[in-house]
Amino acid sequence: MTKCELKKKLTELCQKELTDCTYEDLYIALLQIVNDESAQHIQPVNGRKLYYISAEFLIGKLLSNNLINLGLYDDVKEILEENGKTMGGLEETEPEPSLGNGGLGRLAACFLDSLATLNLPGDGIGLRYHCGLFHQNLKGGLQSESPDFWLGSHNWAQKTEKTYPVSLAGKEYEARLYQIAVTGYNGRTNQLNLFDLDTIDDSIIAEGISFDKTDIAKNLTLFLYPDDSDDAGRMLRIYQQYLMISAGAQFILEECMERGSNLHDLADYAAIQINDTHPSMVIPELIRLLEEKGIEFKEAVAIVTDVCAYTNHTILAEALEKWPETYLETVVPQLVPIIKKLDTIVQERTDDKSVAIIDEYQQVHMANMDIHFSHSTNGVAALHTEILKNSELNHFYNLYPEKFNNKTNGITFRRWLIKCNPELTAFIENLIGPGFKQDASELEKLARFVDDEKVLRELMQIKKDNKIAFAKWLQQKQDIQVNPDSLFTIQSKRLHEYKRQQLNLLYLIHQYFEIKSGHLPTAPITAVFGAKAAPAYTLAKDIIHALLTLSRLFENDPEVSRWIHIVFIENYNVTAAEMMIPACDLSEQISLASKEASGTGNMKFMLNGALTLGTMDGANVEIAEAVGNDNIYIFGQSSNQVIRRYANGDYSAHEWYEADPNIKRAIDFLTSEEMLNIGQEENLVRLRNELCGKDWFQTLPDFNAYVVRKNQAIADYAANPLDWARRTLINISKAGFFSSDRTIEEYNQDIWHLSK
Ligand SMILES: *Cc1c(COP(=O)(O)O)cnc(C)c1O
Repeated sequence: MTKCELKKKLTELCQKELTDCTYEDLYIALLQIVNDESAQHIQPVNGRKLYYISAEFLIGKLLSNNLINLGLYDDVKEILEENGKTMGGLEETEPEPSLGNGGLGRLAACFLDSLATLNLPGDGIGLRYHCGLFHQNLKGGLQSESPDFWLGSHNWAQKTEKTYPVSLAGKEYEARLYQIAVTGYNGRTNQLNLFDLDTIDDSIIAEGISFDKTDIAKNLTLFLYPDDSDDAGRMLRIYQQYLMISAGAQFILEECMERGSNLHDLADYAAIQINDTHPSMVIPELIRLLEEKGIEFKEAVAIVTDVCAYTNHTILAEALEKWPETYLETVVPQLVPIIKKLDTIVQERTDDKSVAIIDEYQQVHMANMDIHFSHSTNGVAALHTEILKNSELNHFYNLYPEKFNNKTNGITFRRWLIKCNPELTAFIENLIGPGFKQDASELEKLARFVDDEKVLRELMQIKKDNKIAFAKWLQQKQDIQVNPDSLFTIQSKRLHEYKRQQLNLLYLIHQYFEIKSGHLPTAPITAVFGAKAAPAYTLAKDIIHALLTLSRLFENDPEVSRWIHIVFIENYNVTAAEMMIPACDLSEQISLASKEASGTGNMKFMLNGALTLGTMDGANVEIAEAVGNDNIYIFGQSSNQVIRRYANGDYSAHEWYEADPNIKRAIDFLTSEEMLNIGQEENLVRLRNELCGKDWFQTLPDFNAYVVRKNQAIADYAANPLDWARRTLINISKAGFFSSDRTIEEYNQDIWHLSK
């Protein structure tokens, strides 16, 4: 479509002159134009197609991204500007689809983008949550939650006529299919297929995000991961998961049969990727459906094993789902006999009880079922896969060494560079041409410029501009002023003890004491946080409270506020990430080694010219390898040390607290007069007791190393900005490996074998 045609169509759809249009008018018209244009790129599928099933797709706003991928962005931008409007204003109109929680859902979204861009046939399958995750409010120094309605009358999910019967607790429901077009960059269009019930009733939401958890017909897809701290919430998760995978499995079989499969040959038509354990019931469900169609149990098991592959995302025991068999009896009685038969097969294969599907307490282990009855189990970064093979899933690895493989995560550069950092994109294109947009490994060509002072100064100016843009956005959104001349150090990710926002917190307290005793920092810093805490995760909320309290304390103290400004971004989501990441100088990736499977935030920051301050965890290890130790700040225990400490069971937080006056001083400050004057005693006392009494994620042993390394980074930044810029350029030039295009090529080569 030429710019002229685009303008004509826009005017037609809006039914008035473009100067008279509201952003809302333009948004609705562009939604239509993008959907029509995407439909032009739908291609027939011959041979095997991928179905990526995931409880989350954290897709972010789609308009700009789709316009970029369809090659319409620049024209739309010009047309808007000719009529007194801006792209930014237009983007404000679009609500962010709230279909995910964190990295796992964002990965699924990046994968869909890469599949379409690489011209591979691959759809997503998930749920159409009405409110998705909650909206985070930070009033009064505490997180509270409210519903995040993103489904206005105009959104990307198009209703279809297709419905599938799903039996939940013995009652029939109709799952309706909605589709969001996924447009590749100069590529094909695939679909994100989302299921929902017509009977959902938003009006049953009461105070905050609470609702009647038992009224399935009305509540089933209201929220992503409803609070699972009680039985009704846990049960609801099983309901949600079964709705997703049963409708999904029927959809897959229907498509494959339409394309000519006789189901015996299903593996020639379909590859199914199970993203974490939320979709695991698809295995027994497919077996059940195949049996219904006359295929013998044994053959059905073999077919399903051939079709399915499983991605593990965690070694946190509490995050590996297991359900009481009685729950499954209630919600999905039709699956229980099949799961029991699968468990019997496992018992015939081995007498190792640790790999059973159903354990001695009648708990059903979803990951165990995945590993036995799929043909591939992958981890998401090299270190993570090694830990799976050597410790967490070692018994499985001994049984099926051939099933285990690594697929290091990646991110789509269309959103995390081209869309979120247009200035840097133009700069790179100017230096090395546009090839990197299609082939990220071309970023290596930037290596030629690492000693070019003019180039480095330009790069510094771009960072400065992005910091100013972030400051403006923050001022508008939260009425907070930040100093773009300070070093921006950012930790944005879900709030979790293993990610260790509390380590950052202790550092900030430590610096407070240093300033008070006359040891001034080498540069002023702005410490930015963005994080939501799961609604029932008390300690995570305590950490947020401590940060907000400390932030106010610093603001009220001119001696400290000259040097440190703590900023907490309210309601961290993809839109916020797109503003924060280009503005970052120092990327905080400080999880306890062995606990962060991969991380993808680390890759986004690197790509946008931040240096990483991190532990040897997840993909940080591969980032360090790529850029070299001079261009990253690594600190802390190794994963082996951590694993050994857990195995020995001899870590005592209290000993560390007593032995180190700096640690003691920082922890005690949490419940000091100064803090209690501003904050809530209950939260601060609880957090303090946790840190010096238990500290399950070993914050204290890494404390001193973190302080030293972080202060080194700040000193380097202050002492030699040009050299800092040189090292950020090296990071950008080495980021190509972390493109999700590379990840998807590997999945395709090793696991899926899709036809183009
Ligand atoms: C990338 C991303 C994440 C994942 O961040 P990690 O640091 O890898 O945990 C979470 N939330 C949003 C909004 C993201 O864009």
